[in-house]
Amino acid sequence: MTALAPPATIAFIGLGMMGRPMAARLAEAGFKLRLFDISQKAVSDFVGAHPTALATASPKAAAQGADALITMLPDGKVVRQAVIDGRDAAREGLAAGALVLDMSSSNPVDTQKLARDLAQSGVALLDAPVSGGVKRAVDGSLSIMVGGAAADLERVRPVFAAMGKTITLCGPAGAGHAMKALNNYLSAAGLVAMCEALVVGEAFGLDPGTMVDVFNSSTGRSNATEVKGRQFVVSRTFAAGFTTGLMVKDLRTAADVASHLALNMPMMKEAVAYWADANKRLGTAADHTEIFRYAEMLAAEDD
Ligand code: NAD
Repeated sequence: MTALAPPATIAFIGLGMMGRPMAARLAEAGFKLRLFDISQKAVSDFVGAHPTALATASPKAAAQGADALITMLPDGKVVRQAVIDGRDAAREGLAAGALVLDMSSSNPVDTQKLARDLAQSGVALLDAPVSGGVKRAVDGSLSIMVGGAAADLERVRPVFAAMGKTITLCGPAGAGHAMKALNNYLSAAGLVAMCEALVVGEAFGLDPGTMVDVFNSSTGRSNATEVKGRQFVVSRTFAAGFTTGLMVKDLRTAADVASHLALNMPMMKEAVAYWADANKRLGTAADHTEIFRYAEMLAAEDD
């Protein structure tokens, strides 16, 4: 088993907010890239900035001759379309022995099925969702949560190392995606808690910037207070680069995992309902830090 070090060929599907900087890290590390996105502009902009990368016309064409294929797509249903079910799907172009790395935040139950289906063609799947947002995708310091076989992870470790700093094998297929959904449940709940505290504190006469500083030196500290508090919420720039729609998807995934295991999780259900309603009122494309505006809206309504 040889590790996939540069200049191995990687097919990359999905050049959005996260895929673009992640693929850029791979190009800069010396990997050869074969790209596909339904947005031709996303592909041509990337090739303009990284001329060694090759634009292709379908997932199948991207997969041809690739040692590994990365998907960074909205959810597991879109991944399945691109990899197996859709027209000119990647599986038709992948050689036996190639690896699929689904770095999107997909549903772990769907991932387990995708892994079984790909195995029939001799293709192994690692689920490898990421955390850290656009900023850490740009500087290559993502946290990568892996599900799948340890030997497959060792094979692609140099690929992940070009994009992330912490690479954790969480268990078999689906484990990375389950871990990611549960992580985002904590992230979403912490953000709402901070926003509600800010709304109440401001009404009481506290300064929101001072509140965030005190949280950060006290036990209320979290990723929300440290990374989003002053930068995106108090400043009201709301530009973290992750949408409310994607957060709702992740929360639904976490709740699906709980109900799949017949576990009653009341606060998780409440978080899904809260974010789903916010999504309706703010719009799916709203930045997730705009949940602060939603907290303000609710505060102004009758109890
Ligand atoms: P995005 O919407 O910005 O990008 C998705 C890309 O996929 C777009 O370029 C779109 O054109 C492309 N696409 C959609 N359908 C396609 C198809 N059928 N075939 C080919 N390309 C297709 O999303 P994003 O913010 O980059 O998120 C991608 C994934 O990463 C999601 O699963 C998200 O939950 C997860 N994620 C996002 C962040 C973040 O901060 N944005 C952080 C961690 C994880």
